[in-house]
Amino acid sequence: MFDLVVAGGTVIDGTGAPARVADVAVADGRIVEVGRVVGPARRRVAAEGALVTPGFVDIHTHYDGQATWDPHLTPSCWHGVTTAILGNCGVGFAPVAPERRAWLVELMEGVEDIPGTALSAGIRWGWTSFEEYLDALASFPRSIDVGAQVPHAALRAHVMGDRALDDATDADIEAMSDLVRSALLAGALGVSTGRTVGHRDARGELVPGTHAAEDELAALVAAMDEVGHGVFQVVPAGVSALIGGDVAGAMDAELDWICRLGRSTRRPLTFLVMDGPRQGHDWRRWFDEVRRANAEGATIRPQVASRCFGMLFGLQSAMNPFRLRPSYAALADLPLVERVAELRRPELRERILGETPVLDGSPSMDHHTEHLFGRLFPLGSDLDYEPTKDRSIAAMAAAVGADPWAVLYDAFVADDGRGFVLHPMMNFGGGSYDGLHEMLADPMTVQGLGDGGAHCSMICDASMTTYLLTHWTRDRTRGPRLAVEEAVRRLTSDPAQLYGLEDRGVIGVGRRADLNVIDHTALALEPPELIHDLPAGAGRLVQRSRGYVETIVAGRTVVADGELTDERPGALVRGTRGG
Ligand SMILES: [Zn+2]
Repeated sequence: MFDLVVAGGTVIDGTGAPARVADVAVADGRIVEVGRVVGPARRRVAAEGALVTPGFVDIHTHYDGQATWDPHLTPSCWHGVTTAILGNCGVGFAPVAPERRAWLVELMEGVEDIPGTALSAGIRWGWTSFEEYLDALASFPRSIDVGAQVPHAALRAHVMGDRALDDATDADIEAMSDLVRSALLAGALGVSTGRTVGHRDARGELVPGTHAAEDELAALVAAMDEVGHGVFQVVPAGVSALIGGDVAGAMDAELDWICRLGRSTRRPLTFLVMDGPRQGHDWRRWFDEVRRANAEGATIRPQVASRCFGMLFGLQSAMNPFRLRPSYAALADLPLVERVAELRRPELRERILGETPVLDGSPSMDHHTEHLFGRLFPLGSDLDYEPTKDRSIAAMAAAVGADPWAVLYDAFVADDGRGFVLHPMMNFGGGSYDGLHEMLADPMTVQGLGDGGAHCSMICDASMTTYLLTHWTRDRTRGPRLAVEEAVRRLTSDPAQLYGLEDRGVIGVGRRADLNVIDHTALALEPPELIHDLPAGAGRLVQRSRGYVETIVAGRTVVADGELTDERPGALVRGTRGG
């Protein structure tokens, strides 16, 4: 007797092999047969016409706090993710002494835009060491799996205390290496570090480790080598070209040590990279350097996104230039429905549009909106994340001889105030995803950068898994697409192998029964929306989807037709030597 048979679906097994119609049988949380399955089953899912894929492995999330209070890890679980890896970009919550907890919260709030009030109210602290943190994650019932990396900033703060932003001494480096060894032995999946000056804590301070010297980074990787597993994840300086404030040429210097370190270790390294302005952001040359290092024994994987890195402007976003105008500011705290009713009054619209913004001196991008009109695009009801030039606020205004501010205002108020306006900052070089396509088509790159759980007030990119399967395999008209088998491989076996999670990511006998049953024709993103479901009532932008018929973890259905179930098959995945 099987526990589950997913019958008659189009199986895309995650290896990149061609799709084929097959049944998938599950017993005791594992896949036991793939093909024509006969025999009774406790439960049967009719999957005719649907895709059956492995569950997605999202290697780049920031659920470090949320994983201690939210059993589901929304929104990722709404996008086919069955394994979420946290502890990215050098920030996280262990190891930590009790007196440094608030400081790590401020760091996470500043770098990843997760409300500090929510983290303070929500995190169930009960650990000092990373091993204790893993145990806390392991003991919490959850629907999908999590894995954790050791964040360099927390390591530094724990070892160096008030000197966390200084140069590390030999003794500091030795102490950090010891902590890395014991964390990995307990099952950490790697170590992460952040090096861009664009990442700051809530008070504007740099992330500890930003300027860490090469010998310190090499020591952390050497500690991983000794244990025999783990990935080193790097946010390099220069990742956002000059937008983040890094100096010109920063990325070239990063590539030097990344390739040098890659050649000297058996550990895989992954660094974030985005398509950017052609001048000074020459990722093709960086890729060539990485290819050379990999040919000489390194395992370096440029980590790429599946759509632009940018911000959403709108009435539900922190990015809203009208908040700087007095007549809007007076309404800013009204619930959306009431605010929109007011904003629709022609005399108020005229008054707000006639007002002069009162800048508050913060570096917020919406202070400079008038310079962005050519690069602000209403997402529209079709959620167009790869808009053509004629859809910009500037172009729309020019076409009808209108004031771009008025066009922006109307875009905000459209759709009952739920309209968003996209500002693509990176991965949109030349005004299209042609560069991004080149990155995605390169088997050296690994899929990531969704930042699940982060950037709550202005982005929701955890939905990029779904975007890969909709835009890139089905919807794109402005250039080449990806084969669905390749897109699925990029979401499943490829990231799983990078992190040594060999038990998942493939539909094959003996593998963990993490599966998605997907109505590919119906698969779609829902519009982003602001909800206030974080601890202490803090808000975040989330995005749902349509078309995931079932998401199954270890043979049990955790999401059915977009609704969460009461099943809690998820667990902490621990890294093991040789993995
Ligand atoms: Zn990140």
